[in-house]
Amino acid sequence: MVRFTVLASGSKGNCSVVSGGRTRILVDAGLSCREMFRRMRLAGEDPATLDAIIITHEHSDHVSGLAVTARKLGVPVYITQGTHRAWVRWLSPRKQMTYTQWLEQCRQQAAARMAEVDASPEDADSEDAETEPAAGTASVSSSPADCSQDGASEGKGENPPKDPTWLPAVEYFSAGTPFRIGDIDVSPFTIPHDAADPVGFVFQAEGIRMAVATDLGYIPPNVKAQLKGLDLLLLESNHDLEMLRDGPYPWSVKQRVLSRVGHLSNEAAASYLENDYDGQAAYVVLAHLSESNNLPELARITAERALNGRASLLANRLLLAEQHEPLIPICF
Ligand SMILES: [Zn+2]
Ligand SMILES: [Zn+2]
Repeated sequence: MVRFTVLASGSKGNCSVVSGGRTRILVDAGLSCREMFRRMRLAGEDPATLDAIIITHEHSDHVSGLAVTARKLGVPVYITQGTHRAWVRWLSPRKQMTYTQWLEQCRQQAAARMAEVDASPEDADSEDAETEPAAGTASVSSSPADCSQDGASEGKGENPPKDPTWLPAVEYFSAGTPFRIGDIDVSPFTIPHDAADPVGFVFQAEGIRMAVATDLGYIPPNVKAQLKGLDLLLLESNHDLEMLRDGPYPWSVKQRVLSRVGHLSNEAAASYLENDYDGQAAYVVLAHLSESNNLPELARITAERALNGRASLLANRLLLAEQHEPLIPICF
């Protein structure tokens, strides 16, 4: 059976589970591990059966639980190289230091360089270090479904200081190059968003096609081309234009949300549904709704109008993904 379960959607965290054949993939990890597992159980999914995590982009509402969850489960993380690097940078805080400390550090580094003049030219400090997890800094807990140490202590004290970016395995993919995870085919596509290398996905299993398209400033032709012949479309309907304009955000944030690399408005989603969408999906799920600049009913009515009577029991059933509770699993 093919199943799609939205565990959370919105600026406070995003994640879903795609199941097909014998494979289960967590799409984004934007809640704490503990909360993701709690919601999975609520939705009837067993966290211990997850085979992989796949990431759309490095914004915290999509990755905040990534490291802990991947370590707990011991599963590979599928991610683009650009997103992985940005995530590593984000988790590697620059040290704050006084001028005296900085001078001392410069002296020590100069001394170290002098000492290394005769050493091997192999550069242990290369960027590859980002993709090479340091061995032995984390271990998979005996019970993968137990997140009781959420964010705390994989190191158990006796290990060297742990690397917050350590993952059990990293698999790079590139937008535009389809690949397979177990029984699920994955087609990643580029989306216009202010992140390092953001992507959306079409997942296909047992002939069922499901798309994830959130966090995009607009819908360019390459995305429209991907969103064809779907059985399920998870589409961003982030904000109502008027509510955003009159709402509480500072002007700079409003500009960012409205920009070509920001978020899709109710109106832009509706325009797509009315003019470009092929009307074939059994389910259209509106997602990533803003809690400050949108109302679920506004998003729903705007999309319903755009679908213009096409909704039926067989096609275009409209659902709204929620921030605070999982959506009922959608089964095919
Ligand atoms: Zn987001
Ligand atoms: Zn984002």
